[in-house]
Amino acid sequence: MKIGIPRSFYYYYYPSLFETFFKSLGYEVVISQKTTKKILDLASTISESENCLPQKIFDGHVLSIKDSVDAIFIPRIISMEKGHICCPRFGALLDASKAGVAEDIKVFSFDINETRLPLEKNLVKFAKELGFSAKESKTAAKAGIVSWKKSEAEIVLKEHVKSDVKKFLILGHPYTLYDSFIADPIVKKLKSMNVPVEMMTFEEHNIKPGEILWCTFNKMNSRLKNLDMNKYAGVIQITTFNCGTDSMMTERFRRESRHLKIPYMLLMIDEHTGKAGIDTRLEAFVDSLSWNKNL
Ligand code: SF4
Repeated sequence: MKIGIPRSFYYYYYPSLFETFFKSLGYEVVISQKTTKKILDLASTISESENCLPQKIFDGHVLSIKDSVDAIFIPRIISMEKGHICCPRFGALLDASKAGVAEDIKVFSFDINETRLPLEKNLVKFAKELGFSAKESKTAAKAGIVSWKKSEAEIVLKEHVKSDVKKFLILGHPYTLYDSFIADPIVKKLKSMNVPVEMMTFEEHNIKPGEILWCTFNKMNSRLKNLDMNKYAGVIQITTFNCGTDSMMTERFRRESRHLKIPYMLLMIDEHTGKAGIDTRLEAFVDSLSWNKNL
């Protein structure tokens, strides 16, 4: 049996976890291709116009693989870190997909809620519900978690490189930072200007819920507050069109950065954003810091 995993949302939060888990159970796994304009155009034929850009991209990925697999994996995600919550879109993702892009295909799903049940135990429960023995379920869950941690460590190794020149930290959600369609034009432009770039990474899983209960924002906030300005020239935050949670949190990060005297720029990406607009804004931001000798 072939299971499709959309290369979007939870694929980037849990790199290689679900792929390894399902393969360990004996399923064939198909991951959708990297995001392209064609995938986004596909989504625009069915995705609600009010959706945020990542939701449209997710819908496009489901549409792009659903005819080549027997089932799609779409979890209902309530909490990815203990004591935290997710953007409400993640809680509604399963039902919204079943009512739209995935209405005519079998869906494999379980509820991810770290506050109620740690993920490894949850995966064991899910595998048993799929009909596997306790031993097979435990083996697959363990393999998935080990693969996830390994992938995270590889991402940290790739991103956290030492540099003699101060770096720019790129903040955002994993599915915006690591989706090449969204982030590549930004990274390529900065690299063409010889500006070292580091993507935010999400390997910290023991964060304490503070005043920010949304887990990715709590991680971003912690990263911002502890930024060593001897190593970083500034922060560029990527936000995507129609993100409800970003509309509240980016203002907080802008103020926090000003308070900490961290140069900060917010870059909004939508499906029509052109390269020229991104390039001009990045050039202006980097030039302004060179002038102030912050680089
Ligand atoms: S956090 Fe923003 S971009 Fe992510 S799913 Fe929610 S609304 Fe969309």
